[in-house]
Amino acid sequence: MDFSLNDEQRMLIDTVRRFIREELQPLEQRIEDDGELDPASARAVFDKSRSLGLYALNMPAELGGGGLSTLDRILCEEQFGHTSDILIRRAFGNVYEPLLECRGEQVERWLKPTIEGRRTCAIAITEPGAGSDAQGIRTTARRNADGHWVLDGGKHFISDGLWSDFFLVSARTGEREISMFMVDKGLPGFTIGKDQKMMGLRGTPHVELFFDQVVLEPLALLGAEGQGFKLAMGALNVVRLAQVGARAVGKASHVLEQMSAYAQDRKQFGTRIADFQMIQQLLADSVIDINAARLMVWQAAWMIDAGIDARDHIAMVKVHAAEMLGRVVDRAVQVFGGMGFCKELPIERYYRDARIYRIFDGTSEIHRTVIARSLGKKGAALHDVHR
Ligand SMILES: Cc1cc2nc3c(=O)[nH]c(=O)nc-3n(C[C@H](O)[C@H](O)[C@H](O)COP(=O)(O)OP(=O)(O)OC[C@H]3O[C@@H](n4cnc5c(N)ncnc54)[C@H](O)[C@@H]3O)c2cc1C
Repeated sequence: MDFSLNDEQRMLIDTVRRFIREELQPLEQRIEDDGELDPASARAVFDKSRSLGLYALNMPAELGGGGLSTLDRILCEEQFGHTSDILIRRAFGNVYEPLLECRGEQVERWLKPTIEGRRTCAIAITEPGAGSDAQGIRTTARRNADGHWVLDGGKHFISDGLWSDFFLVSARTGEREISMFMVDKGLPGFTIGKDQKMMGLRGTPHVELFFDQVVLEPLALLGAEGQGFKLAMGALNVVRLAQVGARAVGKASHVLEQMSAYAQDRKQFGTRIADFQMIQQLLADSVIDINAARLMVWQAAWMIDAGIDARDHIAMVKVHAAEMLGRVVDRAVQVFGGMGFCKELPIERYYRDARIYRIFDGTSEIHRTVIARSLGKKGAALHDVHR
């Protein structure tokens, strides 16, 4: 077993880290103050990232993406965790895996322009009545006499919906059937509702979508009819590992650097607070937590690259990494004392931004249910080293 990184992996990490430190982190506070990333800066970070080959790293190289293995992608995603959500989206792209189901004309219309950053997409599954129960959606797509689809219903909480040119929308196409459609912004009957104000993730809009008899051409169906739920869940699995698991590790590492430096610097009672054992415990527990989560992320990524079913492990990563991040940011506020609660420093922002990790892409409760069910089916083999 070899946990060392090779030279290419180190170079990749260094490139992403430098780009984030020099180009993205300096924009974070302005986004926090303005509530948005201005279009000129969005364009500049996109251009720079693309020129470095960092856009759409998860997509195959032959289509213009980065062509990375899951493990290499995960290494980059950990670095992405060192900056804010909207900057990650603009610099590295929202190129969701289900788009790889595009065939024929769909490739030129939706897939390639998204990989090249000429179009942006968002994924729209959640509805006001169907969150954790993603199969309980009410949005429908019915085929009309000339073979077109007619989409009716609505979604909410759709991240990056204001910026996106099209949406991957799950809709019921039969009593028990869910399919996925590529729905372009601007189609008659398709409107964007309010941008739901959130506790954190400033700068990323989370919008409502309304579909009132939106006519979709047959080409808008992504993958096979009735495969939408499978496609959505497949996409979310990678998202959970990359955008939740790995980013949580990166975010926690970023916070740890700052809390460790502060503890070395801050003196009370004539002593550095880093010398107080209770502060040392907060720091040490954070290091332990981060390392354990990182190993879980790497293991799941390795499983995917080896062609092993990693779904149970991804559920474990989702719970553990999200909750680990919550503990680390909470300790950071404590180490910084009153300054941890002040807007003057980014610590309170990290605290707010971390809270969503336990909720989106499947709540901790849902993933615990998945793990417990799997344990029921597979028994101890679920965690046994001999599988
Ligand atoms: C910032 C943000 C961004 C988001 N981005 C997107 C996006 O881009 N696209 C998209 O489609 N969606 C998005 N979502 C939606 C997100 O995935 C859902 O909020 C999440 O899946 C939870 O659904 P819900 O909010 O309806 O909560 P509910 O499902 O109503 O859950 C409420 C509570 O009940 C618990 N619960 C539910 N069912 C069970 C059960 N069977 N057993 C035990 N406990 C249960 C939950 O764990 C939770 O604690 C986003 C949400 C937020 C807040």
